[in-house]
Order: sequence, then C-alpha cells, then structure tokens
Amino acid sequence: MKEMYDLIVVGGGPGGAIAAKNAAELGLDVLLIEKRQEVGDPVRCAEGVSKICLSDHIEPDPRWICADLTGSRIYSPDGTMVEMSEEMSGGEVGYVLERKVFDRALVDQCARAGAEVRVKTRATGLIMEKGVVCGIYAMHLGEEYEIHSKIVIGADGMESKVGRWAGIDTSLKPADMETCVQYLVTDIDIDPQFCDFYLGNEIAPAGYLWVFPKGENMANIGVGILGSKSGDHRAIDYLDKFMRDVYPEGRIIEMVYGGVPVSGPIEKTVSDGLILVGDAARQSDPITGGGIINAMEAGKIAAEVAADAIKKGDYTTDTLNEYETLWRSTIGKEIEYSLVVKETFIKSTDKDLNHLAQSLSNVNFYSLSLKDLLYALFKANKKLLWDLRGLF
Ligand code: FAD
Repeated sequence: MKEMYDLIVVGGGPGGAIAAKNAAELGLDVLLIEKRQEVGDPVRCAEGVSKICLSDHIEPDPRWICADLTGSRIYSPDGTMVEMSEEMSGGEVGYVLERKVFDRALVDQCARAGAEVRVKTRATGLIMEKGVVCGIYAMHLGEEYEIHSKIVIGADGMESKVGRWAGIDTSLKPADMETCVQYLVTDIDIDPQFCDFYLGNEIAPAGYLWVFPKGENMANIGVGILGSKSGDHRAIDYLDKFMRDVYPEGRIIEMVYGGVPVSGPIEKTVSDGLILVGDAARQSDPITGGGIINAMEAGKIAAEVAADAIKKGDYTTDTLNEYETLWRSTIGKEIEYSLVVKETFIKSTDKDLNHLAQSLSNVNFYSLSLKDLLYALFKANKKLLWDLRGLF
C-alpha cells in the first residue's frame, strides 16, 4: 500500500470531500481517509442547505434533494407566525438533502477527480517531526500503519481529535454547544415546501425546534438546546412534548443524536503541516448550527492554500496562515455576524420574542434564513437594536 502523498485528508464529510476533490483537481496526490465503512451514515444532520451556496460546489441532483423549499415560517412562543416566501424575499431558499446520498456523491466526485479514498480507515495520531505534522498513524481492519504526507487536512468533524493532537485547542464548554436530537417522522400532514422554526423557552431554551420536510408526509423534526441552558430537561424531553402536542399521529422511523459547535471559530486553525476545516475548526454557524456549506467553503480554500504551499515547498504555519486570512475574511465574517445575533437571541425572553414577531409588519426581509429573520426581528426592536450595534 502506498505510504507517501502530497496531502492526507482525515474525514469524508462535506469539508473533507471538497478539500480532497479540489486538491486533486489542482494536481496534488491526495489520500482521503474515512473511519466509517461508508460516508454519510449514520446521518447527524437536519439536512437543510442554501441553494445558491451549494451550487458553487456540486450540480444539484434529484437523487439527493428531498425537498425544494419555497419558504420558511417562524413561530414565536405564543404561536404568532411569521411567514416568508421566495416571492417576498426575492431571494432563493434552500433544499432539504438526503445526506446519505449527498455525502457519497461528494466523495464520488473526489475519487473521480483522482483522490484515493480509503474507508474503514481511522486516523489514530499524527506523525510529527520537530513539531511539524508530516503524516498520520492509521488503523484499518485492526492493523496500524504510518502514512506520510507534506500536509494533513483535519476534517474530522465535531469530535475532532486531529487539531488536539497538533496542540490546537479545540475544546468546547457546554455553553459552546447545542445538544440536538431529531426524529425522521412519517405519515404526517406537512407542507413539503416550507421549513418551520419554533422558538421559546418552553420549546427549546436558547435554541430552536425545526420541522424540515423530506418530501410528502415526511419530515426531520428536531430540537437543539444550548448545553448551558438545558437544566433538568434533556433535548429529547422537549422534542417528545412537541411531538405529543403537534404531531401525535407521526410515526418515528429514525433517530439522530448529536452536538453542534456554536462557539464561533477557535483561535487558530493551522499549524506547521496542518489545516483544520469544517466542524473540526468550529466553523458552523453559531445561531443555526448549520455547518455543511461552511465546511465545503473552508475545504475549497484549504485545498487551494495547500496546493500553493506544496508548489512553494513550504508547509510552515507562516505559509498556511493564508488559509486563516482567507476563511476569516469570508465565512468568518458571517460567523461573527451570527455570534452577535446569537448573544442577543439567548438573552431574549419569550415576551421579547412574542413582541418582536407581532411587530414584524414594518420589517423588510431579504432572506429566508433563520439567522437573517432573527436579525430583522431584533432590528425592529429598539431595546435589542443596541445589542446589535456591532453589526452596523
Ligand atoms: P462531518 O460531516 O462531521 O464529517 C466528519 C467525518 O470525519 C465523518 O465522516 C467522520 O466519520 C470522519 N472521522 C472522524 N474522525 C475520524 C478519524 N479519526 N479518522 C477518519 N475519519 C474520521 N448543518 C447544516 O448545514 N444544515 C443542517 O440542517 C444541519 N442540521 C444538523 C442537525 C444535527 C442534529 C446536527 C448534529 C448537525 C447539523 N448540522 C447541520 C451540522 C452539519 O451536520 C455539520 O456542520 C457538517 O456535517 C460538518 O461537516 P464536516 O465535513 O466538517 O464534518
């Protein structure tokens, strides 16, 4: 088995697959390893993405699109509903994906671009020489071996170890994580073109509950609550109550547990010979928890920076810092914006949220994302406007 590559990518999620594909297209000799026997399964995602951003990375394909959305609705704690449709926003909405098929399609693309893919292969450590990362220890079917490379990209998700192995602090406090649980529910009466978000302390403290359609009569219904606010109740208690109250007829056919980093970015995402992308770099959105698109964007930037570094023959932090600069000035800006909205959101009482939802007639929306809707809600309220001053 080959033991030397230009680039090893650890993790076959959206961040890793896009990094490997772009790097292979730029002429690098790339290995992508994935610890599971197949990518994308088990799914730990509500599977919602923006259409526009997605098409920068992959052609839309009906095999992995479950729902093509035309709008979204937010329900405040007293049930006031704010509805936005594609027509009203003048913008585009999103898809609900079938991630098992989507993640495989991404890895298929990267294999076709020339990257080698090894599944059921787990990184167990980093090979370091004088503090510089120069490969990984890998485990496949009980056998441990070394694989060397000029650069390693850690795209190993929420539970990432790669960063830690290189001495990068990726730790998360309870206040930095949303604890999520989700059911795939069938045999329910839903609008297959609308995403619904429910807010309020009785529904999802410092988080939200979502209903994302997965086609006719089927939806991902889940809840995410801030780790530091969960108190005596678990996320599943909130979800079960909602199911009893709103969809008592629903039949649960799958269940997902998972955490989402909502900390905002960590201090550094590169070291000598190493780049972190996606959830491993805590690049998911602090308010929505969405991380698919950010992981893909970061994967693409990481591949380009790695290709340049390899061309120069310089894999030091100084050169790889270009990745920090590029992602922080693009997706990093969005993450900063979300952090400010999140801080305001988690301080809001149910009364605030009800009042905001009721006052929406004066607000113009340009987007259907939860983050932008919340921002518009807060902007409509003078008391909360002060908290958002950093965004103007
Ligand atoms: P991942 O998709 O987590 O991929 C990491 C990969 O690395 C995995 O395949 C894993 O098996 C592999 N791996 C880990 N360790 C190793 C190792 N040592 N060796 C080899 N392989 C390894 N985001 C959205 O955009 N929209 C949503 O609607 C949404 N809903 C969510 C709902 C829930 C309940 C949860 C938990 C998350 C949700 N997210 C959502 C977040 C989204 O799933 C992640 O942000 C996204 O998958 C991050 O992609 P990634 O490539 O960074 O990591």
